[in-house]
Amino acid sequence: MSNTASEQDNITFNEWAFNIWTDSSDWCVHCDKKNNKLEFDDKTKTTRCTQCGHVETYDDIDWKTLQAQRYVVYQYMPGKYFFNNLSVDAIFKKYLRELSHVDWSSWLIHDYVLARMRGDKVVQEKLREVAKIAAEKMSYDRKPWKTLFEKMDAPNAEIFLQVPQIIYEAAEKKFIEVAPKEELQSTFQGYVENLNSIYSYSRWKKDCVACWVTSEIIKLCDIESSSIEFYTKCFGCDPVLEGFQDDILNGKNHEIDGKDSYIQWEIRLADNYLKESTAFLAVWAAYNALTAKL
Ligand SMILES: [Zn+2]
Repeated sequence: MSNTASEQDNITFNEWAFNIWTDSSDWCVHCDKKNNKLEFDDKTKTTRCTQCGHVETYDDIDWKTLQAQRYVVYQYMPGKYFFNNLSVDAIFKKYLRELSHVDWSSWLIHDYVLARMRGDKVVQEKLREVAKIAAEKMSYDRKPWKTLFEKMDAPNAEIFLQVPQIIYEAAEKKFIEVAPKEELQSTFQGYVENLNSIYSYSRWKKDCVACWVTSEIIKLCDIESSSIEFYTKCFGCDPVLEGFQDDILNGKNHEIDGKDSYIQWEIRLADNYLKESTAFLAVWAAYNALTAKL
């Protein structure tokens, strides 16, 4: 698929008109009508646009990795609860019928720590209840769970890293399942590009927790170290992530003040790029800062 940079910008921009993040690979880039959802046909490994009729055919591996990437981003969306909107009973049912002991426990930890980062006491209470019921019904020893909750409540930022770690492990598992070894890095590279877009989207939605989780997942991904360094530097100078963990530990509400911090971020990026004499990127970042101001 080839499309110019400005077309790509347009698509990315259009994604943001939605309440949920969507991937640009979900939309047709061949017709000028907006927001044409593609139909994915698993049998023929093709995508088809219902408006212009354009058909894109994939080979076996490309199709599998594309689907794995789509699955991973939607199923394990950074900053979103895995057991989103599920009742205590429904979460327990997932344990009995669907997930392995390890996977289920991981997602419980993920959701509990995420709720702690969000200051969401209702979800925390619900997950405590689920753990209690699981221990009762399965006649498990309650002690390990008690210790775990103490750990998750401790005034130590270390536990926050469990959230990106659990998502990363679930993504890695899926990618290893479908991608041959030599394609694994490029599959991760595609995933990181998705994450980069999710970061921008979450920032636009003023969701600082999602931004932090997303930036931390990228650090874990198996891609070229220069690429990791690029993203780490990029998010590392975003003012909205400054003091983020300390604020949470101190029970302070960490808020994003949209525009000003964005301008500040772009100016810092321009400064960084200038230091590395990547003049083109510096001009680009400065340009972004200016247009945001206007
Ligand atoms: Zn089309």
